[in-house]
Amino acid sequence: MTTKLAPPGAALMHDALRLRDTLGLSNREARSEAELLLVRALNITRARLIAEPGLAAEAKTNATYGQWLKRRLAGEPIAYILSAREFYGHVFTVTPDVLIPRPETELLVDMALERIPPDADMTVLDLGTGSGAIAITIALQRPHVRVVGLDASAASLRVAKLNCERLLGNSDRLSLVHSDWFDALAGTTFDMIVSNPPYVAEGDTHLSKGDIRFEPRQALLGGPGGLDALERITRVAPRHLAAGGWLLCEHGYDQAEAVKQMLIGAGLCDVVSERDLAGVLRVSGGRRLTRSVGTG
Ligand code: GLN
Repeated sequence: MTTKLAPPGAALMHDALRLRDTLGLSNREARSEAELLLVRALNITRARLIAEPGLAAEAKTNATYGQWLKRRLAGEPIAYILSAREFYGHVFTVTPDVLIPRPETELLVDMALERIPPDADMTVLDLGTGSGAIAITIALQRPHVRVVGLDASAASLRVAKLNCERLLGNSDRLSLVHSDWFDALAGTTFDMIVSNPPYVAEGDTHLSKGDIRFEPRQALLGGPGGLDALERITRVAPRHLAAGGWLLCEHGYDQAEAVKQMLIGAGLCDVVSERDLAGVLRVSGGRRLTRSVGTG
């Protein structure tokens, strides 16, 4: 998605260059971040900054902007500074208690929506819901679906609740459950299970670069090889899937083959992996057989 940038303005331009050089951002990212900080500090729209380029001079004097810029220059993710990140066309509240929603996770939502007819009244479970971005987006896109967002972190469920109230209103279509994976769900089945679980390997070098340094370890780390959560989910999920129901999981750039094998090993069929916009196999899934075979 391309967003129009405001005419530069010397003060803003200067800050953008600092952001670029300190954080290793592209020119465009740096410009758009400086602008976003200013627009939010002045509580104006981006359109207004474009229409009134003189406002860019406020970058020199606005105290909130100054503080935010300092935090950003120290590496703090802009999503945590502004407590907001856009996902699938909606702005979600995010705090350091939750993972920052990423564009590649929109693929998981797309794959879920492709498998939920517009008027279906299916039930969906989102395992490790975090900010609720996946669960709430599915509920917004499919008005008859009921979604359960589950997380082991009580703090993240508070963030999900805020997002639910703001984006879905007082809907009873989303329930939030505090549980260590399936522990609280004994005997419950869903028509679909989706998850963006922790899948980064402990010691992975990219944990020490960029935004990820500030994100909750609990939402990122999947054990020594990164696959612990995916193993647990694929092993247990089939028991919580209705006949014909899909399990869809996001995973790391090099985990598609391993996850497919787990899905097959768990007895799921129609196993698939799809590529995100960066061309990386990012989401894999399989479905429970419509009926049991080989028992007669
Ligand atoms: N995609 C994230 C990253 O590699 C990880 C998210 C996750 O573990 N679920 O930065």
